[in-house]
Amino acid sequence: MQSFVVMQGQTYQEEKELGVIWSLQQDSSGKERHSRLRMIEVNEGDRIFHYVKGNIVALSVAKTGCQIASNPSTMQNQERWNDDGYLVELEYHELEVPVNIRSKFDAILPLLPIKYSPFQADANGNQGYLYPCNEELSIKLLELIGDLNIYQVDEEQLELAIGTVLRTERDTFVPMIAETEAELKTKIRLGRKKFRAGLLPLWDYKCVLCGIGLPALLRASYSKPWKDSTDFERVDPSNGIVLCCNHDALYKNGFIAFDGQGRLHISSQIPEEDYGTYSIHPKMKIARTEENKPYFKWHKRNLFIE
Ligand SMILES: [Zn+2]
Repeated sequence: MQSFVVMQGQTYQEEKELGVIWSLQQDSSGKERHSRLRMIEVNEGDRIFHYVKGNIVALSVAKTGCQIASNPSTMQNQERWNDDGYLVELEYHELEVPVNIRSKFDAILPLLPIKYSPFQADANGNQGYLYPCNEELSIKLLELIGDLNIYQVDEEQLELAIGTVLRTERDTFVPMIAETEAELKTKIRLGRKKFRAGLLPLWDYKCVLCGIGLPALLRASYSKPWKDSTDFERVDPSNGIVLCCNHDALYKNGFIAFDGQGRLHISSQIPEEDYGTYSIHPKMKIARTEENKPYFKWHKRNLFIE
């Protein structure tokens, strides 16, 4: 199962009534073409978050894969609806309470991929039509949907209860959300487990920087994070190093990086006089393989804070 975010705007209402999403195969400017071509990647059972004017307003399940079809709209005078396009049939579940992206953006921003993100860094939606939605972002959106639409928390007692919501949809909506969340979490858990199992022996079960070997403190640290990686890269042991939890936090947040030679680079945010406290120094070099190189370079280019 994959997830996507579709940017619908004015077309939402009619597409919902028709139970579809539809896009032209090409737009006149040729911009954001990837976002239309992505329609081809949709398979039966995939989940789609519907974004309209700043809010996630619905979650749907694909009933078909992508079909080539002309515009199903009955509305007139819409030039952009004329040519052949891509169509996916969906079962829409409209939310009683939409999720406002801007108001939840602190939680969403760290989960956005660097490439093909549905939202910009200022919380506005991007211009294209269909965007991939990685598992971590999907889980966050499902949590936000659940908090507003399914669960009620008694803040005095901190008790959680299923809310009295969702009119006629209740029978299918709640299990669909739960099933989606469970499937996504399982995929992440199994992927991370496989990654860790492949990575630890390569680095001798020790932090490559300080040598700590206590398993509870060791992290299988990604160079290219889950959200930015392909399924292959997510389990590729070359896409990471073994670090203790402190060094993992430094690496993950871009305070340290490695170049193609395996040399350590330290952010100027860390004062030189503190290097000893952090157990790092700029002359450190780790025994990288050829396969580590592209991942180290990606990390340094995209995450390192100079
Ligand atoms: Zn360490």
